[in-house]
Amino acid sequence: MDNKLSTNGSPNGEIRIGFFICHCGVNISTIVNVAEVRDYVATLPHVVVSKDYKFMCSDPGQEIIINAVKTNKLNRVVVAACSPLMHEGTFRGACEKAGINKFLFQMANIREHCSWVHDDKIRATEKAKALAHAAVKRVSFHVPMTVKKAKVNPDTLIVGGGISGIQAALDIADSGNNVYLVEREPSIGGKMALFDKTFPTLDCSACILTPKMVSVGHRDTIKLYTWSEVVAVSGFLGNFKVTIKKKARYVDTDKCTGCGQCWSHCPATRFPSKRQVFFGDKLINEKR
Ligand code: SF4
Ligand code: SF4
Repeated sequence: MDNKLSTNGSPNGEIRIGFFICHCGVNISTIVNVAEVRDYVATLPHVVVSKDYKFMCSDPGQEIIINAVKTNKLNRVVVAACSPLMHEGTFRGACEKAGINKFLFQMANIREHCSWVHDDKIRATEKAKALAHAAVKRVSFHVPMTVKKAKVNPDTLIVGGGISGIQAALDIADSGNNVYLVEREPSIGGKMALFDKTFPTLDCSACILTPKMVSVGHRDTIKLYTWSEVVAVSGFLGNFKVTIKKKARYVDTDKCTGCGQCWSHCPATRFPSKRQVFFGDKLINEKR
């Protein structure tokens, strides 16, 4: 937290927002009435400045933002333009150059989410207004933040040992990281293990799946939990703590060869799998 600022980023608590809308040449302005959105946002609470420009990400465009912040003592900035993936960093940089915390910035995507996907100018303009309004409302709740570095645990937990989980586990293991693969059934393989052939090549599904299943078992960096379920997850990004419940197998897995003899002869049906359908205590359908 920046000590010079109160929690809303302003020395006296007043919220002063600058709104800047981009034409993106003609990418936005042919569908969205930019001037109408600019004038609408100018009427919203806390908005002190509302401007438009042809190319907001250009150096002159960023200068408009920086000058407006300094001239009008702005402490929040909203830019309505393209995807934040493209230029959020650019505008956060402009905010820092203008002297305000870069997290007191919000971007509204009126290009990919609006002008590029609509052809009705009136409705697209109304949508752009709504997106801009939401961004203005949201930025008033932003607080200044600082970037800190924290250690992360690079291990990966994959829930579900179907073909997707298996392939993801193998790919991650190939990159040199540890994987915990949790499958609630007694074996990995999932739905693909039930198919004869795969679409569209009609390849034998077992021929694709089985080597991958074997490969999972042979990797030191993949810890496999079959007949297990995730029962609790706590922590946060990069530092999760997961509790896995291993269900009782009643066999010594080191000695079991997987021949299946006990499975087909076992009179007990107390341990349902996805392939078993019960009505009360009675097993009414079983696919093996
Ligand atoms: S900020 Fe985005 S929308 Fe505006 S000109 Fe640059 S790329 Fe186009
Ligand atoms: S009968 Fe076969 S599948 Fe069953 S526990 Fe023994 S070795 Fe394993």
